[in-house]
Amino acid sequence: PSVPDAEALQHQDVARTLPAPGAESDKYRRGVLGIVAGSARYPGAAVLAVAGALRGGAGAVRYVGPAREAVIAAHPETLVHSGPPEKAGRVQAWAVGPGLGDGPGTGVAVAEVLASDVPVLVDADGLRVLDPDTVRERTAPTLLTPHAGEAAALLGTDRAAVEAGRLAAVRALAARYGATVLLKGSTTLVCGPGGTGPVRVNPTGTPWLATAGSGDVLSGLAGSLLAAGLDPVDAASCAAYLHGLAARRAAAGPGPITATEVADSLRAAWRDVR
Ligand code: AMP
Ligand code: MG
Repeated sequence: PSVPDAEALQHQDVARTLPAPGAESDKYRRGVLGIVAGSARYPGAAVLAVAGALRGGAGAVRYVGPAREAVIAAHPETLVHSGPPEKAGRVQAWAVGPGLGDGPGTGVAVAEVLASDVPVLVDADGLRVLDPDTVRERTAPTLLTPHAGEAAALLGTDRAAVEAGRLAAVRALAARYGATVLLKGSTTLVCGPGGTGPVRVNPTGTPWLATAGSGDVLSGLAGSLLAAGLDPVDAASCAAYLHGLAARRAAAGPGPITATEVADSLRAAWRDVR
């Protein structure tokens, strides 16, 4: 039997897969996400990743990095930590990368988080310092969330080549890194580790999402779903689906939206799915 090349994400599948707290739940059981993001130059990326995570269904979010003041000012419910990620306390997943910048600290932070035994999402600047062997040898799952330019850098090709063959690119990345890959852009694609099997295609996006910071919201959201215990393909697919719905909600018809508004509209997106 031949495997379909690609399959559209179905509303019913997302509705069935999204976590809902049971009567016996507590915040630890719902999942704690650790976020390593932001820098003196890009504090907003940390704020937006935390915003996405808080609307992603995890029970708590720990933030590790230099943007603690900005994060707390925007989201007082965040647990903030200085020092290395491994000293931050137990988490069920990590999201690392948005706004870290290209300084030497980025490689250190990514290496520390990848050395953990929990699922890790790597995005943005974190993708610049990614070593295929380190990712392949992890025991816990890894989820990579590049846009076309980041995917091109990871594959050693150019953006035009990725855009001309997005299905092939997402499969090649998933094979090379042994990771789940969410390739962002005009159509968002999700491929499980190994790169074989059908690629999931998200139907909910809108080009108004092409705005600064919207990818950071997606990282926090997908990380939150990983922390809640979804497998990486489901976490990535559900995050892309909700993110697109939230953008449409925020735009309420055609019109510019901000990343902050996308995060704020995630609650409405959850209601749309339920
Ligand atoms: P980033 O490139 O990290 O800022 O993320 C941008 C976000 O916007 C991702 O979720 C993309 O999938 C989404 N996006 C960018 N361009 C488009 C487009 N033309 N149509 C739909 N979604 C887009
Ligand atoms: Mg980005």
